[in-house]
Amino acid sequence: MSEIINIILGSAEDAFIQVSVFVGAVLLLFGYINYKQSGKFIESIENSKKFQPIIGAVLGLTPGCGGAIFIMPLYVKGKITYGTLIATLIATMGDSAFVLISTSPLTYLLISIISFIVAVPTGYLIDRMGIAPKVAITKSKKAKELREKGKKVINQSNYFHYGHNEGDEIHNILHKEIKGHQKESSLGYYITHKGFLVYWIVLFLGLILGIMALFQVDINGLQIKSLGAIIGVSGTAVSIFMMIMSRKFIGDDTHEESEIKVSSLKETFIHCATETAFVATWVFFAYLIYEFSILILGGGVYSVGVGMLAKVMTTAGLLAVLVGALIGIIPGCGPQVIFVTLYSKGMIPFAALIANAISQDGDALFPLLAMDKKASLWATIITTIPALLVGLLIFFIEMFI
Ligand SMILES: [Zn+2]
Ligand SMILES: [Zn+2]
Repeated sequence: MSEIINIILGSAEDAFIQVSVFVGAVLLLFGYINYKQSGKFIESIENSKKFQPIIGAVLGLTPGCGGAIFIMPLYVKGKITYGTLIATLIATMGDSAFVLISTSPLTYLLISIISFIVAVPTGYLIDRMGIAPKVAITKSKKAKELREKGKKVINQSNYFHYGHNEGDEIHNILHKEIKGHQKESSLGYYITHKGFLVYWIVLFLGLILGIMALFQVDINGLQIKSLGAIIGVSGTAVSIFMMIMSRKFIGDDTHEESEIKVSSLKETFIHCATETAFVATWVFFAYLIYEFSILILGGGVYSVGVGMLAKVMTTAGLLAVLVGALIGIIPGCGPQVIFVTLYSKGMIPFAALIANAISQDGDALFPLLAMDKKASLWATIITTIPALLVGLLIFFIEMFI
């Protein structure tokens, strides 16, 4: 029993100090860049039909889900091709990008390059083959009715829209039917919008310790005894609390929040905090999975478990590629964060990571699912094909190196 508690506390500390604090810093940096750059790419993509899949892939590559989320309405409105949508979804890695940048920046760079090389030709191929599941919603018979609905909800927003306009045929779906910003009267809103500064302070303290630990400083043997454990465990606890309060479980980025973020620097700080809390919680779960696997595999002896894991890895490599691509089918970033974190712990081969990165669509699939079911189901299936092919190719290349 005490061993189990030790594993839980140890995982909470390590997940926060080794990964989450860096995720928070990277997330805030890109949140700020997004805020400054807001929507420039979105405008350019509508105007350059020829290069759409390329621009889509670049937008997909931006860390996090924001870029891909803004692309989705454009497809539904008939402004970009289906191939562009596919290219964007292949390139996007969602929130797990933040974990990979924090734990293994070079791998992240490599994954981005491969994803881009796969995304662009696939996008053009889809368009050349004329694959497109549905006509644009704007041209549909229902459009008028949807616009009427949209008009009823417009006065609740005082920020810019990306990929669609105030009160158009998808406004109602994106701002009322699916999850968006929390209601201002809710407890969750109050806590996340008042408490975000406390969260950043805990994260900043953790970041200092995290950097010290990178330089081999024993952060539990400083003036204040067990400081690393105290900050690490409370950091994970606060993250779980913030995650529950922001009601983000499988996915975290929503269309509405993405728009609000680029309209206000304060909201960027708030929602980067809730996003970090979301990722931190999933990273913690991944650490638990890792530690308990080692414990079980080794029958209680850590070093035996590590050895056993290495053995399992070499025999299950091919299966891991398949699993990576299949997990990518699940919409939302949470499960993908687990997968990438396990990669950082050496539990998953690179080929499986690339299969997952290509297959997964981040949180962008949620709004698409609400607007156009067919397009989103086909997109999930289509992105799995290159994921498997490239994953297998890299698996065999790795075998012969
Ligand atoms: Zn909107
Ligand atoms: Zn907010």
